[in-house]
Amino acid sequence: MKVLILGGDGFCGWPTALHLSNLGHDVVIVDNLSRRNIDNELEAGSLTPIAPMGTRIAAWRELTGRELGFYNLDLARDYERFLRVLQDERPDALVHFAEQRAAPYSMKSPRHKRYTVDNNVNATHNVLCAVVESGLDVHVAHLGTMGVYGYGTAGMKIPEGYLDVEVVTDEGERLMQQILYPSNPGSIYHMTKTLDQLMFAYYNKNDGVRVTDLHQGIVWGTNTQETSRDERLINRFDYDGDYGTVLNRFLMQAAVGYPLTVHGTGGQTRAFIHIQDTVRCVQLALENPPAKGERVRILNQMTETHKVRDLAHMIAALTGAEVAMVPNPRKEAAENDLHVKNDLFLDMGLNPTTLSDGLLLEVTEVAKRYAHRADLSKIPSRSLWTKEQRAGVPEEK
Ligand code: NAD
Repeated sequence: MKVLILGGDGFCGWPTALHLSNLGHDVVIVDNLSRRNIDNELEAGSLTPIAPMGTRIAAWRELTGRELGFYNLDLARDYERFLRVLQDERPDALVHFAEQRAAPYSMKSPRHKRYTVDNNVNATHNVLCAVVESGLDVHVAHLGTMGVYGYGTAGMKIPEGYLDVEVVTDEGERLMQQILYPSNPGSIYHMTKTLDQLMFAYYNKNDGVRVTDLHQGIVWGTNTQETSRDERLINRFDYDGDYGTVLNRFLMQAAVGYPLTVHGTGGQTRAFIHIQDTVRCVQLALENPPAKGERVRILNQMTETHKVRDLAHMIAALTGAEVAMVPNPRKEAAENDLHVKNDLFLDMGLNPTTLSDGLLLEVTEVAKRYAHRADLSKIPSRSLWTKEQRAGVPEEK
């Protein structure tokens, strides 16, 4: 298969590119390196020393003899160039990771809200529009988030994308229908992901674009089999208050002896997946594309759910770290349950890496090894969700 990896320089995209290349697929990366520029803006880099794109590609060629293509282009702005890339490369599939993906970053200021909406909505729309314009039958696989469902489950297991509802007609007849699960975003970032869902539904209905939308949980871990092969291939590890996702942030905090900062009561339940399973799930999704005419296929890409405070105590027990309860910067319910169906991936043969298998290894092999690169002042999350919370706090620019 020839596959375009949009956002192939990022935390999920880079290991996916290597995984698919290693399996013998022809891989071409598209990325505008905006995530590296955001590192400069926030003055907070990856804990791991990520190599420049040219070095990454050369190292992969040297180790495997395999080529990775690369186009540095902005999917939200360079529509014509992206269309030409599609026409020249003629891919069988593309995987769309190329969005601003941090909820706290999206809430920092009006500028960050507007950037996130402009970037994410335009990038997704340009991808779909260009696929139709190219006349090619490209399978579009997109990385969505569990956050589109909101975090309330109304006492039921969250289904994979669609909800069965019973409609009573004016004549009193009862009919069963399936609708997109009602979206309930908790940040501007999550809102863009719910808008993505509508664009997929529309282009699928109107133009027959084949789409798989992967509703992914929080990714933890750093390396995969491929990125571990050489330090020049190392994956990024974000630990700062904006991009550091909860489990990786805790692992790093434990490694540097910084108390594990639990927001609010820590009663928020979140869904998780290891980066090795992310790349495997993308492979499975590409190997099992929807048929022509099939509606958008939605899969829940997660393997376990945990309450944040339980994770903190689990890591504290493993490492001796302290747990610190701090005010929650987000506007969300203090406690929630989350039960999620993930049968579709399990049926395709996913064999998940569990927290109990990998946690300690991650602390010692990555977080401790690169602890000297950490800037501890970047750990606290300073982004606040509402104007009331921000009253008296200097505005972020
Ligand atoms: P990331 O920020 O590390 O990678 C995203 C990549 O896309 C970056 O390399 C960035 O430079 C690129 N990009 C962004 N906008 C672009 C544009 N307009 N044109 C070209 N390139 C652009 O993020 P990630 O953690 O790898 O996440 C990838 C996807 O997976 C995101 O869409 C995210 O919403 C989703 N996801 C991630 C997680 C997680 O825990 N990391 C969880 C659920 C879903």
